[in-house]
Amino acid sequence: LTRLYGPLTALSNVRVDVMSALVSFDRVFEVLDLAPSIAEKPDAVDIPAGAGRLEFRDVRFRYPSAAEVSLASLEEVATLDRTVTEPVLRGVSFAVQPGQMVALVGPSGAGKSTTSMLVSRIYDVTDGEVLVGGVDVRDAKLASLRDTIGVVTQDSHLFHETIADNLRYAKPEATDDELWSALRGAQVEELVRSLPDGLDTVVGERGYRFSGGEKQRIAIARLLLKAPSIVILDEATAHLDSESEAAVQRALSVALSGRTALVIAHRLSTVRNADQILVLDDGKIVEHGRHDDLVAAGGLYAELYRTQFAVADSPAPYTDAVGPE
Ligand code: ATP
Repeated sequence: LTRLYGPLTALSNVRVDVMSALVSFDRVFEVLDLAPSIAEKPDAVDIPAGAGRLEFRDVRFRYPSAAEVSLASLEEVATLDRTVTEPVLRGVSFAVQPGQMVALVGPSGAGKSTTSMLVSRIYDVTDGEVLVGGVDVRDAKLASLRDTIGVVTQDSHLFHETIADNLRYAKPEATDDELWSALRGAQVEELVRSLPDGLDTVVGERGYRFSGGEKQRIAIARLLLKAPSIVILDEATAHLDSESEAAVQRALSVALSGRTALVIAHRLSTVRNADQILVLDDGKIVEHGRHDDLVAAGGLYAELYRTQFAVADSPAPYTDAVGPE
C-alpha cells in the first residue's frame, strides 16, 4: 500500500485518507497511464537541417483533462469519465511545402491555436501524425524541433537584461554584427543605435521601456537570429498605432521570407497573400484554397471575409488611419 500511495500522494499532493474513499487503484493507474508526457524518445532523430515541409495527417486531438494532467484533485480522478474533454481537432489533414505561407482562419474556438501548438509539440496528438521535415514530431529530438520552429506571438516577453542578452537567447554565439543585422531586418536598428548604451541598454521596468510594437520587433530580431525554417505566427490583434503596425509588418515580411509559415491570420493582407488558406470550423477543415476562389465559393470563408477581414484591416496600414473603415 505504501508503495502505491507514496508516488501518488507525491504527485497529487492530496491526503491518503480522502483518496481511499474516492478511487480504486485500477482507476488511478488508468489515469496515470493517460497522463501526457512530452518526452524525448531514446532513439529520437534530428529533423533534417533546413527542413521546411509541414504535414498533418488525420490529426485528432482533445485536451487532456485536468485530472489527466496533474491529478490535481481527487474529485477529478474519481470522476474521470465526466472530465474527459471533447475532441477539439477531428481529423485535420494538410501539407505545407517549404517556403509556403498558410493562413489558418476560422471562428473563435475552431481549433486554430491548438493546431499551431501541435506543431511545436506543446501537446501530442491524440491520433494521427504531425510531420516536420518528414519526421513525426514525437520521434524528433526536442532540441532539433526547437531549432526548426520559431514562434511569434503578440505578447513577446523581454527579460530585464541588456538588449544583447535578450537577443542572444536565440543564438548565444552571435557576434555584435549579427545582432545589428537582425535588428536591421526587424526594423529596429535605428532605435537601438539612438540609445546611449546601444546593445548594452538594459530593458524593462528600471531600464529602457520598449513600446508594444518595438518589443515585437525585438522579438522578430530574435527570430531572425534563430533562423528557423518554419515560423508559426499568431497575428491576434495588437492594437498598435499605424506607424508601429507598419514597421512590424515590414519586419515580419523580412522574417517570413523564404520560410514556411503557418499564420493564425487576422489581417486581410495575410489571407490575400497566403499560398493556401485553411478554414477551420469545429475542429475540421471545411474549406481550403486561395482568397479569391474562397470568396467566390460563397461559403464560411466568404462570411468570415465579410465579417472579420474586410472590416478588421485598417484600409491602408501605411497611412495615419487608425480605425476600421
Ligand atoms: P480563437 O480564435 O478564439 O483563439 P481558436 O480557433 O484558436 O480560437 P483554440 O484556442 O484552438 O481555438 O480552441 C479550440 C477549442 O479547444 C475551444 O473549444 C477551447 O475552449 C478548447 N481549449 C483551448 N485550450 C484548451 C485547454 N488548455 N484545455 C481545454 N480546452 C481547451
